[in-house]
Amino acid sequence: MLTNTKQAGRPPRVRLARLPTPLQRLDRTSDALDVDLWVKRDDLTGTELSGNKVRKLEFLLADATAQGADTVITCGGEQSNHCRATALAATSIGLRSVLLLRTDDPANPPATSGNILLDRLAGAEIVWISASEYARRTEIFERETTRLIERGQRPYVISEGGSDAVGTWGYVECARELSSDLSTLSEAPTSILYACGSGGTGAGLILGARMSGLTDNGVRVVGVNVCNDRSYFVSAIGGICTAFEARYHVGVKVSPSDIDIVDGYVGRGYAKSSPEELALLRDVARRDALILDPVYTGKAFFGVVRELAADPRRFGDRIVFVHTGGIFGLFPAADQLSRLL
Ligand SMILES: *Cc1c(COP(=O)(O)O)cnc(C)c1O
Repeated sequence: MLTNTKQAGRPPRVRLARLPTPLQRLDRTSDALDVDLWVKRDDLTGTELSGNKVRKLEFLLADATAQGADTVITCGGEQSNHCRATALAATSIGLRSVLLLRTDDPANPPATSGNILLDRLAGAEIVWISASEYARRTEIFERETTRLIERGQRPYVISEGGSDAVGTWGYVECARELSSDLSTLSEAPTSILYACGSGGTGAGLILGARMSGLTDNGVRVVGVNVCNDRSYFVSAIGGICTAFEARYHVGVKVSPSDIDIVDGYVGRGYAKSSPEELALLRDVARRDALILDPVYTGKAFFGVVRELAADPRRFGDRIVFVHTGGIFGLFPAADQLSRLL
């Protein structure tokens, strides 16, 4: 019997994000870069729920609920957008949340600012852990899961960044949205560019571009990594795509050559900004009133601009940059930024 296998496995979803998000042209930045530059405004998925993690959480929290969980547990850096979105989204559907947040000195946790302030407002339980504990986070997840079960709770573990087979559906659906956005524009060689941090957004966009026909129409999906390196993400994204296919049987096989990562722009390191990156963030704000974040979108966009300076047609005639959010990460960078204002 013939079925539409590309739809067959789609799991349940809770509605959390304001969708579809707008696709908006950046007129003055386009002129400055001499390229047709558009932004998919996934920073507008919500106010407090702003950013890319909300799309993933629609599927992850539906899965948690289906499994009878009453608490979600996840991990990230101290200013994690993913943890903040998880805490707020969980509370909004009556679940509790535990966040494992990585910080230099767990005995002296950072100030309650930016995302941490929102974590606390949402009522999340925060467990501060060191970088070395974070490296062994599977073990820490097990320890915390056991502790919660002993307390009578029913925990559901969400992996770093929500980047697993379930969460990947969020960006499969975003690619579908982009496919309909782009059908209203003229056909021009187009690249979809995104900031890559744990790989789930990339995996979803690559799979979704294949499933919705964007790839067949010559649209390229290109990530700029903000941590680790190219080979790490080819492997991480490949792994997520394989797990996705094994679970949902959509009939899309992703090989390493399908995973396009532009490396070389991690700069000073994850969540560390250079004055040049911040100056570009300021310039984009002043040209088009688009606010990038220092950790992900600002860094990735810096990479895009550098690549274009070397080769103006590097990404084709039209660029769609996915604004994956992160605005609350701006406030902890206020001191460094204010020197440039
Ligand atoms: C998490 C995050 C990313 C990276 O997405 P991944 O799916 O983890 O690769 C990009 N931008 C922002 C603002 C984020 O919070």
